[in-house]
Amino acid sequence: MADRHEQLASLAGLDDAAFFDDPVDLITYRRDTSSYAPGKPEGVVRPRSPEAVVEIIKRANRDKLPVYTRGGASMYAGGVNPEHGGIVLDMGGLNRILDIDLDRGIVLCEPGVRFGALLSALKPHGQTVGLVPSTAPTATVGGAASAHALGTGSPQFQSFGDEVAGLEVVLANGERVQTGSAASSHAGYFQRYCIGPDVTGLFLGADGTLGVVIAVALWLHPLPPDRETVCYGFPDAGSVQECIMEIQRRELVNNIWYAGAYEAPTIQTRISQAFPDKPLDDLPSFALAVDYRGEAHHIEEDESRIAEIAERCGGAHFPDFNEAYFNKLRNEEIYWYSFAGFFAISRCAILMSSVPTDKLTAFMDVIGQQRKNFPQYPLGAAIVMCRRGLHGGALAFYDEASQWQDANEAISECARALVAAGCVPYKSGKVWAEQVASFGPYSSLLKQLKKELDPNGILSPGDLGLATPN
Ligand SMILES: Cc1cc2nc3c(=O)[nH]c(=O)nc-3n(C[C@H](O)[C@H](O)[C@H](O)COP(=O)(O)OP(=O)(O)OC[C@H]3O[C@@H](n4cnc5c(N)ncnc54)[C@H](O)[C@@H]3O)c2cc1C
Repeated sequence: MADRHEQLASLAGLDDAAFFDDPVDLITYRRDTSSYAPGKPEGVVRPRSPEAVVEIIKRANRDKLPVYTRGGASMYAGGVNPEHGGIVLDMGGLNRILDIDLDRGIVLCEPGVRFGALLSALKPHGQTVGLVPSTAPTATVGGAASAHALGTGSPQFQSFGDEVAGLEVVLANGERVQTGSAASSHAGYFQRYCIGPDVTGLFLGADGTLGVVIAVALWLHPLPPDRETVCYGFPDAGSVQECIMEIQRRELVNNIWYAGAYEAPTIQTRISQAFPDKPLDDLPSFALAVDYRGEAHHIEEDESRIAEIAERCGGAHFPDFNEAYFNKLRNEEIYWYSFAGFFAISRCAILMSSVPTDKLTAFMDVIGQQRKNFPQYPLGAAIVMCRRGLHGGALAFYDEASQWQDANEAISECARALVAAGCVPYKSGKVWAEQVASFGPYSSLLKQLKKELDPNGILSPGDLGLATPN
């Protein structure tokens, strides 16, 4: 077999792909936004066509060269960090919107299309997509599919995968596969499923471990005519849990674009910044913030029903929090990340999990316990409502120079405690690898699939706790 130098040189000679390995250029390819240890890329290849992706993967597979596929690198789980070396496959050169099909209500994109660009292209058609990560200016549709995005849009549509009408993927052997209805060349993209099991789903949230996504078909939705934000205050986590469960049971989510729950430290900080004279003692311990979108009369109807539910659960309208904070986060179809302000003063280690709504209090207990275990830095909770269940984040703000190791220890401990409390990994990458590998027969099945689809273990080795290169 050719040595590593010759392997990389063979990629450098490809048509339709840029290659670079200057150490200075490689610096930015070492990590994503996570606190996970940076990797050591040996080269970066930036293909400009699907054919170039096929050729790169074929050569990497022949040479058993690790390949870490990278979109916007905005994920917080170390997925793109090349911990086993090899190449980073930068999908930024595949950034064309291939088709806006208004008859079918589908947009077909190359994987490197960023959400900001996609929303701008759809706006003149009065259309948008269902799920948009709050990192929209940077995040790519290929990354969102592979990282299983959710958040904004989740009350209506649950997760990014639920909005995918099919994918095109390059397998480790270089074969191109279209999934869902597009498996039939006569049909094209219109639904995620085709014969038998959900093959599209195999690649959603797979972090690039089973194939490289080269096209994503997404459902279109009409741009909503009206928007409104409303906040409710609650005495404790139990009452907000009851309220969210009731909203979900009654499916009062069809006109909610985003909803998040905020705990006392966040509320107190925001209120004291906006209204320095307000006493903090009588502030609620929890807030549920809801961003409605839809027809004005639907919003009004749902808002009055949800206000009733909130009241029954011990809550009340909390206009100060809406004015001081929540309403300001809204920006067209992009939702600014609630904690983004903190990134300016500190780095943040993020661990996201999926939380059944009835476990919200258990989730908050874990955060409370970890605060006691790791008092060195402020630990925050971020809770996002989905159509079913919740999305719960533990955020550890830390000083990179002095607290990096410590923050990662806290994240690992938090991951173990969250699984024990009934939550499951979300945005797995490498930060959840230990837990992903411990789910008995489920983990074995994942390993078998990996072995079958990527026998040389070249695709994102280490992600999801799966194979290291052979
Ligand atoms: C402040 C902040 C806020 C965030 N808010 C949200 C949010 O609201 N919702 C949300 O879902 N996420 C959020 N994220 C996480 C992240 O931004 C999203 O998951 C985003 O969709 C990732 O897209 P990306 O292009 O940056 O992917 P990357 O980080 O580049 O990649 C993510 C994973 O997918 C793999 N991958 C990328 N492209 C491909 C491809 N073409 N084929 C195969 N595998 C591929 C990578 O190897 C990696 O494992 C947030 C992150 C930060 C830092």
